[in-house]
Amino acid sequence: MPGFEVFGEEEKKEIMDVLSTGVLFRYEFPEQRQGVFKVRTFEEQFAKYCGAGYAQAVTSGTAALKVGLTALGVGPGDEVITQGFTFVATWEAIFDVGAVPVFSEIDDTLNMDPADLEKKITSKTKAIIPVHMMGAPARIKEIKAIADRHGIPVLEDTAQAAGARLGGRHLGSFGKCGTFSLDPVKTITTGEGGMIITDDEALWRKMSEYHDHGHDHVQNPGGRGGEGRSFIGFNFRMMELQGAIGLAQLAKLDGIVAAQKKNKAALKEIVAGIPGVTFRNILDEQGDSATFLAFLLPEGAKAKAVNQALKEKGAGAVYFAENTWHYYPKWEHLLAGSTLAHSGWPFKHEDKRRRVVYDPQVLPASAAIIDRTLVYQVPIKLSEERLKQISEAVAKAAGI
Ligand SMILES: *Cc1c(COP(=O)(O)O)cnc(C)c1O
Repeated sequence: MPGFEVFGEEEKKEIMDVLSTGVLFRYEFPEQRQGVFKVRTFEEQFAKYCGAGYAQAVTSGTAALKVGLTALGVGPGDEVITQGFTFVATWEAIFDVGAVPVFSEIDDTLNMDPADLEKKITSKTKAIIPVHMMGAPARIKEIKAIADRHGIPVLEDTAQAAGARLGGRHLGSFGKCGTFSLDPVKTITTGEGGMIITDDEALWRKMSEYHDHGHDHVQNPGGRGGEGRSFIGFNFRMMELQGAIGLAQLAKLDGIVAAQKKNKAALKEIVAGIPGVTFRNILDEQGDSATFLAFLLPEGAKAKAVNQALKEKGAGAVYFAENTWHYYPKWEHLLAGSTLAHSGWPFKHEDKRRRVVYDPQVLPASAAIIDRTLVYQVPIKLSEERLKQISEAVAKAAGI
Protein backbone atom coordinates (compact mmCIF):
# COMPACT_ATOMS: atom_id res chain seq x y z
CA MET A 1 0.00 0.00 0.00
CA PRO A 2 2.48 2.78 0.90
CA GLY A 3 4.99 4.01 -1.65
CA PHE A 4 7.81 4.05 0.92
CA GLU A 5 8.05 0.29 0.43
CA VAL A 6 9.74 1.03 -2.89
CA PHE A 7 11.95 4.01 -1.96
CA GLY A 8 15.28 3.62 -3.73
CA GLU A 9 17.99 5.22 -5.82
CA GLU A 10 15.43 7.16 -7.89
CA GLU A 11 14.22 9.17 -4.88
CA LYS A 12 17.82 9.75 -3.76
CA LYS A 13 18.83 11.09 -7.15
CA GLU A 14 15.89 13.48 -7.30
CA ILE A 15 16.68 14.80 -3.82
CA MET A 16 20.34 15.28 -4.68
CA ASP A 17 19.32 17.42 -7.67
CA VAL A 18 17.67 19.79 -5.20
CA LEU A 19 20.41 19.74 -2.58
CA SER A 20 23.07 20.45 -5.17
CA THR A 21 21.35 23.74 -6.05
CA GLY A 22 20.56 24.59 -2.43
CA VAL A 23 17.15 25.97 -3.42
CA LEU A 24 14.37 24.40 -1.34
CA PHE A 25 11.74 26.99 -2.31
CA ARG A 26 9.51 26.27 -5.29
CA TYR A 27 9.56 29.88 -6.53
CA GLU A 28 12.28 32.45 -7.16
CA PHE A 29 16.11 32.08 -7.00
CA PRO A 30 16.38 32.07 -10.81
CA GLU A 31 20.16 31.80 -10.98
CA GLN A 32 20.93 29.51 -8.07
CA ARG A 33 18.34 26.92 -9.03
CA GLN A 34 19.97 26.11 -12.37
CA GLY A 35 16.68 25.30 -14.02
CA VAL A 36 15.58 22.84 -11.30
CA PHE A 37 11.85 23.21 -10.58
CA LYS A 38 10.84 19.95 -8.90
CA VAL A 39 7.43 20.98 -7.54
CA ARG A 40 6.43 22.58 -10.82
CA THR A 41 7.58 19.54 -12.80
CA PHE A 42 5.80 17.22 -10.36
CA GLU A 43 2.58 19.20 -10.90
CA GLU A 44 2.93 19.01 -14.67
CA GLN A 45 3.59 15.28 -14.64
CA PHE A 46 0.86 14.56 -12.11
CA ALA A 47 -1.69 16.43 -14.23
CA LYS A 48 -0.54 14.59 -17.35
CA TYR A 49 -0.66 11.21 -15.60
CA CYS A 50 -4.26 11.84 -14.50
CA GLY A 51 -5.33 13.29 -17.85
CA ALA A 52 -6.13 16.62 -16.17
CA GLY A 53 -5.41 20.11 -17.45
CA TYR A 54 -3.82 21.47 -14.26
CA ALA A 55 -2.41 20.31 -10.94
CA GLN A 56 -1.63 22.29 -7.81
CA ALA A 57 0.76 20.89 -5.21
CA VAL A 58 0.12 21.73 -1.55
CA THR A 59 1.38 20.70 1.89
CA SER A 60 -1.05 17.85 2.60
CA GLY A 61 -4.19 16.05 1.48
CA THR A 62 -6.06 18.01 4.16
CA ALA A 63 -4.71 21.29 2.75
CA ALA A 64 -5.72 20.11 -0.73
CA LEU A 65 -9.32 19.75 0.47
CA LYS A 66 -9.24 23.19 2.08
CA VAL A 67 -7.67 24.90 -0.93
CA GLY A 68 -10.14 23.16 -3.27
CA LEU A 69 -13.17 24.15 -1.19
CA THR A 70 -11.88 27.72 -0.84
CA ALA A 71 -11.35 28.04 -4.59
CA LEU A 72 -14.90 26.78 -5.12
CA GLY A 73 -16.07 29.66 -2.95
CA VAL A 74 -17.41 27.53 -0.09
CA GLY A 75 -17.67 29.33 3.26
CA PRO A 76 -19.87 30.18 6.28
CA GLY A 77 -23.58 29.51 5.77
CA ASP A 78 -22.87 26.66 3.36
CA GLU A 79 -23.32 22.92 3.74
CA VAL A 80 -21.03 20.33 2.15
CA ILE A 81 -22.11 16.71 1.84
CA THR A 82 -19.59 13.92 2.31
CA GLN A 83 -19.82 10.31 3.45
CA GLY A 84 -19.77 8.93 7.02
CA PHE A 85 -16.95 6.55 6.13
CA THR A 86 -13.83 8.61 5.41
CA PHE A 87 -10.78 9.96 7.19
CA VAL A 88 -11.50 12.87 9.58
CA ALA A 89 -9.58 15.25 7.28
CA THR A 90 -12.49 15.40 4.83
CA TRP A 91 -14.85 17.03 7.31
CA GLU A 92 -12.11 18.94 9.17
CA ALA A 93 -11.51 20.84 5.92
CA ILE A 94 -15.24 21.55 5.54
CA PHE A 95 -15.38 23.06 9.04
CA ASP A 96 -12.15 24.92 8.42
CA VAL A 97 -13.62 26.94 5.55
CA GLY A 98 -16.57 27.79 7.83
CA ALA A 99 -19.09 25.41 6.26
CA VAL A 100 -21.03 22.59 7.92
CA PRO A 101 -20.43 18.94 6.96
CA VAL A 102 -23.50 16.80 6.27
CA PHE A 103 -22.96 13.04 6.17
CA SER A 104 -24.42 10.59 3.69
CA GLU A 105 -24.74 6.83 3.87
CA ILE A 106 -22.39 4.53 2.00
CA ASP A 107 -23.49 1.68 -0.27
CA ASP A 108 -21.93 -1.64 -1.30
CA THR A 109 -19.01 0.24 -2.92
CA LEU A 110 -18.20 1.39 0.68
CA ASN A 111 -18.48 4.91 -0.73
CA MET A 112 -21.17 7.59 -1.03
CA ASP A 113 -24.67 6.25 -1.71
CA PRO A 114 -26.07 8.46 -4.52
CA ALA A 115 -29.70 7.90 -3.44
CA ASP A 116 -28.97 9.10 0.09
CA LEU A 117 -26.88 11.99 -1.25
CA GLU A 118 -29.88 13.25 -3.20
CA LYS A 119 -32.05 13.19 -0.06
CA LYS A 120 -29.52 15.33 1.82
CA ILE A 121 -29.19 18.13 -0.72
CA THR A 122 -30.67 21.43 0.49
CA SER A 123 -30.59 25.01 -0.80
CA LYS A 124 -27.46 25.44 1.37
CA THR A 125 -25.47 22.60 -0.26
CA LYS A 126 -22.54 24.27 -2.01
CA ALA A 127 -20.25 21.29 -2.66
CA ILE A 128 -20.34 17.48 -2.64
CA ILE A 129 -17.28 15.46 -1.61
CA PRO A 130 -17.47 11.79 -2.51
CA VAL A 131 -14.43 9.93 -1.17
CA HIS A 132 -12.90 7.09 -3.18
CA MET A 133 -12.03 5.08 -0.09
CA MET A 134 -9.45 2.32 -0.15
CA GLY A 135 -8.39 2.61 -3.76
CA ALA A 136 -11.72 2.05 -5.49
CA PRO A 137 -14.42 4.31 -6.92
CA ALA A 138 -17.60 5.73 -5.54
CA ARG A 139 -20.55 5.73 -7.99
CA ILE A 140 -19.03 8.93 -9.30
CA LYS A 141 -21.01 9.12 -12.56
CA GLU A 142 -24.35 8.91 -10.71
CA ILE A 143 -23.11 11.37 -8.08
CA LYS A 144 -21.94 13.80 -10.75
CA ALA A 145 -25.29 13.55 -12.58
CA ILE A 146 -27.20 14.36 -9.39
CA ALA A 147 -24.83 17.23 -8.57
CA ASP A 148 -25.14 18.63 -12.11
CA ARG A 149 -28.94 18.54 -11.88
CA HIS A 150 -28.71 20.69 -8.75
CA GLY A 151 -25.87 22.87 -10.05
CA ILE A 152 -23.52 21.85 -7.22
CA PRO A 153 -19.77 21.29 -7.79
CA VAL A 154 -18.22 17.91 -6.96
CA LEU A 155 -14.81 17.76 -5.27
CA GLU A 156 -13.50 14.17 -5.27
CA ASP A 157 -11.43 13.21 -2.23
CA THR A 158 -9.03 10.87 -4.02
CA ALA A 159 -6.52 10.76 -1.13
CA GLN A 160 -6.65 6.97 -1.03
CA ALA A 161 -7.00 6.28 -4.74
CA ALA A 162 -3.98 7.61 -6.64
CA GLY A 163 -3.57 5.48 -9.75
CA ALA A 164 -7.16 4.20 -9.69
CA ARG A 165 -9.47 4.54 -12.68
CA LEU A 166 -13.09 4.04 -13.66
CA GLY A 167 -13.68 3.04 -17.27
CA GLY A 168 -10.11 4.09 -18.09
CA ARG A 169 -10.53 7.57 -16.62
CA HIS A 170 -8.58 8.56 -13.50
CA LEU A 171 -10.48 9.03 -10.25
CA GLY A 172 -10.24 12.67 -9.26
CA SER A 173 -10.85 13.82 -12.84
CA PHE A 174 -14.65 13.42 -12.86
CA GLY A 175 -15.59 16.37 -10.64
CA LYS A 176 -14.70 20.07 -10.73
CA CYS A 177 -11.51 19.09 -8.95
CA GLY A 178 -9.95 16.08 -7.24
CA THR A 179 -7.63 16.06 -4.23
CA PHE A 180 -4.82 13.63 -3.38
CA SER A 181 -2.73 12.95 -0.29
CA LEU A 182 0.96 12.09 -0.31
CA ASP A 183 1.19 11.34 3.41
CA PRO A 184 3.34 8.47 4.75
CA VAL A 185 0.72 5.72 4.33
CA LYS A 186 -0.64 6.65 0.90
CA THR A 187 0.00 4.80 -2.37
CA ILE A 188 2.67 7.30 -3.34
CA THR A 189 4.21 9.47 -0.65
CA THR A 190 6.37 12.54 -0.15
CA GLY A 191 6.23 12.30 3.66
CA GLU A 192 3.73 15.16 3.74
CA GLY A 193 2.06 16.60 0.69
CA GLY A 194 -1.07 16.92 -1.38
CA MET A 195 -2.18 17.58 -4.93
CA ILE A 196 -5.32 18.99 -6.54
CA ILE A 197 -6.23 18.36 -10.17
CA THR A 198 -8.72 20.24 -12.32
CA ASP A 199 -9.52 21.03 -15.94
CA ASP A 200 -10.72 24.51 -15.04
CA GLU A 201 -7.97 27.07 -15.57
CA ALA A 202 -9.72 29.82 -13.62
CA LEU A 203 -10.23 27.48 -10.66
CA TRP A 204 -6.59 26.39 -10.79
CA ARG A 205 -5.45 30.03 -10.75
CA LYS A 206 -7.50 30.65 -7.63
CA MET A 207 -5.89 27.62 -5.96
CA SER A 208 -2.43 28.66 -7.04
CA GLU A 209 -2.86 32.19 -5.69
CA TYR A 210 -4.71 31.24 -2.50
CA HIS A 211 -2.12 28.61 -1.52
CA ASP A 212 0.65 31.28 -1.77
CA HIS A 213 -0.67 34.27 0.24
CA GLY A 214 -2.57 35.62 -2.76
CA HIS A 215 0.52 36.18 -4.98
CA ASP A 216 -0.92 36.45 -8.46
CA HIS A 217 2.12 34.72 -9.98
CA VAL A 218 2.25 37.11 -12.91
CA GLN A 219 5.87 37.71 -13.81
CA ASN A 220 6.80 41.35 -13.41
CA PRO A 221 10.04 43.32 -13.49
CA GLY A 222 9.99 43.73 -9.71
CA GLY A 223 10.22 39.98 -9.15
CA ARG A 224 8.43 38.10 -6.40
CA GLY A 225 6.75 40.49 -4.01
CA GLY A 226 6.03 42.96 -6.76
CA GLU A 227 2.94 41.12 -7.99
CA GLY A 228 -0.59 42.15 -7.26
CA ARG A 229 -3.17 40.37 -5.11
CA SER A 230 -6.80 39.73 -5.95
CA PHE A 231 -7.85 38.18 -2.63
CA ILE A 232 -6.44 37.09 0.72
CA GLY A 233 -4.64 33.77 0.86
CA PHE A 234 -2.59 31.51 3.09
CA ASN A 235 0.57 29.40 2.90
CA PHE A 236 0.13 25.82 1.75
CA ARG A 237 3.27 25.66 -0.41
CA MET A 238 5.03 22.37 -1.10
CA MET A 239 8.82 22.44 -0.91
CA GLU A 240 11.28 21.25 -3.54
CA LEU A 241 12.39 18.16 -1.60
CA GLN A 242 8.81 16.90 -1.57
CA GLY A 243 8.41 17.67 -5.26
CA ALA A 244 11.60 15.72 -5.95
CA ILE A 245 10.42 12.62 -4.06
CA GLY A 246 7.01 12.97 -5.68
CA LEU A 247 8.53 12.79 -9.17
CA ALA A 248 10.32 9.54 -8.36
CA GLN A 249 7.22 8.09 -6.71
CA LEU A 250 4.87 9.08 -9.54
CA ALA A 251 7.10 7.26 -12.01
CA LYS A 252 6.58 4.11 -9.90
CA LEU A 253 2.83 4.41 -9.46
CA ASP A 254 1.70 2.10 -12.27
CA GLY A 255 4.23 -0.49 -11.13
CA ILE A 256 2.97 -0.19 -7.54
CA VAL A 257 -0.61 -0.71 -8.67
CA ALA A 258 0.36 -3.74 -10.79
CA ALA A 259 2.17 -5.34 -7.83
CA GLN A 260 -0.76 -4.65 -5.52
CA LYS A 261 -3.20 -6.17 -7.99
CA LYS A 262 -1.23 -9.40 -8.03
CA ASN A 263 -1.02 -9.47 -4.24
CA LYS A 264 -4.66 -8.58 -3.81
CA ALA A 265 -5.70 -11.43 -6.10
CA ALA A 266 -3.63 -13.86 -4.01
CA LEU A 267 -5.17 -12.56 -0.76
CA LYS A 268 -8.66 -12.65 -2.22
CA GLU A 269 -8.30 -16.26 -3.27
CA ILE A 270 -7.34 -17.19 0.29
CA VAL A 271 -10.10 -15.14 1.96
CA ALA A 272 -12.70 -16.63 -0.39
CA GLY A 273 -12.29 -19.83 1.64
CA ILE A 274 -14.25 -18.37 4.57
CA PRO A 275 -17.83 -19.69 4.40
CA GLY A 276 -20.39 -16.95 3.72
CA VAL A 277 -17.79 -14.32 2.82
CA THR A 278 -18.60 -11.73 0.14
CA PHE A 279 -16.51 -8.88 -1.24
CA ARG A 280 -16.85 -5.15 -1.63
CA ASN A 281 -18.45 -4.10 -4.92
CA ILE A 282 -15.57 -2.79 -7.04
CA LEU A 283 -17.16 -0.94 -9.97
CA ASP A 284 -14.13 -1.43 -12.21
CA GLU A 285 -11.84 -4.33 -11.27
CA GLN A 286 -9.36 -3.32 -13.92
CA GLY A 287 -9.17 0.23 -12.61
CA ASP A 288 -8.83 -0.80 -8.95
CA SER A 289 -5.59 0.48 -7.41
CA ALA A 290 -5.82 -2.62 -5.20
CA THR A 291 -4.56 -0.93 -2.05
CA PHE A 292 -7.07 -2.79 0.14
CA LEU A 293 -9.09 -5.99 0.16
CA ALA A 294 -12.46 -5.48 1.87
CA PHE A 295 -14.52 -8.56 2.67
CA LEU A 296 -17.88 -8.91 4.37
CA LEU A 297 -19.32 -11.55 6.67
CA PRO A 298 -23.07 -12.23 6.91
CA GLU A 299 -23.33 -10.39 10.25
CA GLY A 300 -21.34 -8.22 12.63
CA ALA A 301 -20.85 -10.89 15.31
CA LYS A 302 -19.43 -13.24 12.69
CA ALA A 303 -17.04 -10.57 11.42
CA LYS A 304 -15.74 -10.03 14.95
CA ALA A 305 -15.31 -13.76 15.58
CA VAL A 306 -13.51 -14.26 12.28
CA ASN A 307 -11.20 -11.36 13.01
CA GLN A 308 -10.47 -12.72 16.49
CA ALA A 309 -9.37 -16.01 14.93
CA LEU A 310 -7.27 -14.16 12.33
CA LYS A 311 -5.64 -12.08 15.07
CA GLU A 312 -4.76 -15.13 17.13
CA LYS A 313 -2.85 -16.43 14.12
CA GLY A 314 -1.02 -13.13 13.55
CA ALA A 315 -3.11 -11.98 10.58
CA GLY A 316 -5.80 -9.68 12.01
CA ALA A 317 -7.74 -7.45 9.63
CA VAL A 318 -8.79 -3.82 10.10
CA TYR A 319 -12.29 -3.65 11.60
CA PHE A 320 -13.48 -0.14 10.70
CA ALA A 321 -16.55 -0.45 12.96
CA GLU A 322 -14.16 0.04 15.87
CA ASN A 323 -11.78 2.46 14.13
CA THR A 324 -11.91 5.94 15.63
CA TRP A 325 -10.44 7.78 12.62
CA HIS A 326 -12.60 6.69 9.68
CA TYR A 327 -16.16 6.07 10.84
CA TYR A 328 -18.85 8.56 11.87
CA PRO A 329 -20.21 6.95 15.09
CA LYS A 330 -16.64 6.73 16.40
CA TRP A 331 -15.77 10.43 15.94
CA GLU A 332 -16.36 11.31 19.59
CA HIS A 333 -15.01 14.86 19.27
CA LEU A 334 -17.35 15.59 16.36
CA LEU A 335 -20.35 14.07 18.16
CA ALA A 336 -19.53 15.99 21.37
CA GLY A 337 -18.77 19.24 19.52
CA SER A 338 -15.30 19.52 21.06
CA THR A 339 -13.28 22.52 19.91
CA LEU A 340 -10.60 24.87 21.22
CA ALA A 341 -12.53 28.03 20.32
CA HIS A 342 -13.96 29.94 23.32
CA SER A 343 -17.16 30.53 21.40
CA GLY A 344 -17.64 26.85 20.61
CA TRP A 345 -17.21 27.51 16.87
CA PRO A 346 -17.74 25.66 14.55
CA PHE A 347 -20.36 23.76 16.56
CA LYS A 348 -21.87 26.90 18.11
CA HIS A 349 -22.64 30.39 16.80
CA GLU A 350 -20.94 33.48 18.24
CA ASP A 351 -23.87 33.88 20.64
CA LYS A 352 -23.34 30.26 21.83
CA ARG A 353 -26.48 28.95 20.14
CA ARG A 354 -25.88 25.45 18.81
CA ARG A 355 -25.10 25.58 15.08
CA VAL A 356 -25.11 21.86 14.38
CA VAL A 357 -25.70 18.63 16.31
CA TYR A 358 -24.44 15.22 15.21
CA ASP A 359 -26.49 12.18 16.22
CA PRO A 360 -24.50 8.91 16.19
CA GLN A 361 -27.56 6.96 15.04
CA VAL A 362 -28.28 8.76 11.77
CA LEU A 363 -26.42 6.44 9.40
CA PRO A 364 -28.01 3.00 9.95
CA ALA A 365 -27.35 1.74 6.41
CA SER A 366 -23.64 2.51 6.77
CA ALA A 367 -23.55 0.74 10.15
CA ALA A 368 -25.19 -2.34 8.62
CA ILE A 369 -22.32 -2.54 6.12
CA ILE A 370 -19.34 -1.42 8.22
CA ASP A 371 -20.25 -3.75 11.12
CA ARG A 372 -19.80 -6.73 8.77
CA THR A 373 -16.68 -5.52 6.95
CA LEU A 374 -13.08 -6.61 7.49
CA VAL A 375 -10.17 -5.10 5.55
CA TYR A 376 -6.67 -6.21 4.67
CA GLN A 377 -4.15 -3.63 3.49
CA VAL A 378 -2.48 -4.90 0.36
CA PRO A 379 1.30 -4.45 0.49
CA ILE A 380 3.44 -3.81 -2.57
CA LYS A 381 5.81 -6.49 -1.37
CA LEU A 382 4.19 -9.64 -0.04
CA SER A 383 6.46 -12.51 0.93
CA GLU A 384 5.56 -16.19 0.49
CA GLU A 385 6.05 -16.53 4.23
CA ARG A 386 3.48 -13.87 5.06
CA LEU A 387 1.06 -15.27 2.52
CA LYS A 388 1.39 -18.68 4.16
CA GLN A 389 0.74 -17.18 7.60
CA ILE A 390 -2.41 -15.44 6.33
CA SER A 391 -3.48 -18.65 4.62
CA GLU A 392 -3.18 -20.60 7.88
CA ALA A 393 -5.01 -17.89 9.82
CA VAL A 394 -7.85 -17.89 7.29
CA ALA A 395 -8.07 -21.67 7.43
CA LYS A 396 -8.58 -21.41 11.19
CA ALA A 397 -11.11 -18.59 10.82
CA ALA A 398 -12.99 -20.61 8.19
CA GLY A 399 -13.60 -23.32 10.74
CA ILE A 400 -15.47 -21.19 13.29
C1 LIG B 1 -5.11 10.69 4.14
C2 LIG B 1 -6.43 11.25 3.83
C3 LIG B 1 -6.66 12.63 3.81
C4 LIG B 1 -5.69 13.64 4.33
O1 LIG B 1 -4.45 13.62 3.79
P1 LIG B 1 -3.16 14.17 4.62
O2 LIG B 1 -2.13 14.26 3.56
O3 LIG B 1 -2.85 13.13 5.65
O4 LIG B 1 -3.52 15.47 5.19
C5 LIG B 1 -7.89 13.10 3.37
N1 LIG B 1 -8.86 12.24 3.02
C6 LIG B 1 -8.70 10.91 3.07
C7 LIG B 1 -9.81 10.02 2.64
C8 LIG B 1 -7.49 10.36 3.50
O5 LIG B 1 -7.34 9.03 3.57
